[in-house]
Amino acid sequence: MTHKEPVTPSSIPLHPDVPLAPVLSLDSFRQITQSPMPCVLDVPHVRLVTSGRIALGLALRELGVGEGDVVLLPAYHSLSMVPPVLWLKAEPRFYRVDAGANADMEDLTTQCDARVRVLVTTHYFGFPQNLTVLRAFCDQRGIALVEDCAHAFFGAYQGKPLGSYGDYAIASSMKFFPMYEGGVLISARRSLDAIVLVSGGKGFEAKVVLATLERSFSYGRLMGLKAPLVLPLRIKDWLWQRIKVGQATSAPLAPGSSDSDASFDTAWLDKSTSLFARFLLARLSKTRITGLRRRNYQCLQQTLRGLPGCRPLFATLPDSVCPWLFPLLVDDADAVFARVRAMGVPVVRFAETLWPAMDIERCVNSRHLSRHVLAFPCHQELNEQELNWMCAQLLKAIRP
Ligand SMILES: *Cc1c(COP(=O)(O)O)cnc(C)c1O
Repeated sequence: MTHKEPVTPSSIPLHPDVPLAPVLSLDSFRQITQSPMPCVLDVPHVRLVTSGRIALGLALRELGVGEGDVVLLPAYHSLSMVPPVLWLKAEPRFYRVDAGANADMEDLTTQCDARVRVLVTTHYFGFPQNLTVLRAFCDQRGIALVEDCAHAFFGAYQGKPLGSYGDYAIASSMKFFPMYEGGVLISARRSLDAIVLVSGGKGFEAKVVLATLERSFSYGRLMGLKAPLVLPLRIKDWLWQRIKVGQATSAPLAPGSSDSDASFDTAWLDKSTSLFARFLLARLSKTRITGLRRRNYQCLQQTLRGLPGCRPLFATLPDSVCPWLFPLLVDDADAVFARVRAMGVPVVRFAETLWPAMDIERCVNSRHLSRHVLAFPCHQELNEQELNWMCAQLLKAIRP
């Protein structure tokens, strides 16, 4: 089963001048040894799959979610969070968030009836929700808590890793590592032994490596490898063409999630992440990733401080947070968005399209956030030149 959402105008792929997501370079392998920030892989039970949404589907299935059940999802959400609920024939029910994107506990109380089995909470942009309150809320009602750590691969809440408060948690490796695919299902409370994963196959393993390298080349990284790889890349293109022609009969080599749409393809439910992704998860310095992301975030925060018509979604960057992106609330978001895009600056409008069947008027805060938050990359693979260029462009775009 594949669920596809229409492509919205601003999600039409564009090749910005600096990379939106991490790209692999020799620098990626630099080791920095300091005491690391907690990460989802520190939780006792871990399964590495191909995307965060597949991990969410598995978590809900492990919880026994089925027909007639309700799963509480935030009204401010990624479209990819809904299809896993529908796949299990359960009903998504959307709860309000406040102006700072925190779960509205009053609305949760109103909406939680006997059909509700699971509450999903999202740590937007890496900033944790109030997990003590959410955990107590779920325990009192006998429902399960799933932490969506898609934006929070790293980080802690009151000294414990994000992802360790939920019955299950999911994460998206692609958002934090220079990877083409990768998702994580974890649990601090339940064994994941019943989940058996198999290899995605040789074609998948090859596609992952080549797609990762191709992205690096397109941003001028790893150029020493480019010449020797011209032939393999040509062969890959030729193969892709043939596969597209015969699409009806042959399965895709990689999940649609890797090409950033909202599809949920059940063929990937039992597939393990690639060997290349495992290698990178094991080898890349986590201290480097968290340190540089925090530094770049603070640089953006400094640069944009006090500019008219905008303010950071989060007033401060707590020590225990590793940001996904730098989210900026912009009054005239459409105009600024158009300007930064035209300048070649990478920008994300998280939750720009909300689930069409949801009544958006029920949560004015979600509507506001989805329209006014522009998020800019702060990832570890931005070099100093790229970061400085981006800061300069943003100043021009916001104060034209
Ligand atoms: C990206 C995202 C997901 C899904 O992660 P994929 O790895 O893309 O499947 C889930 N929840 C949120 C909030 C996300 O932003």
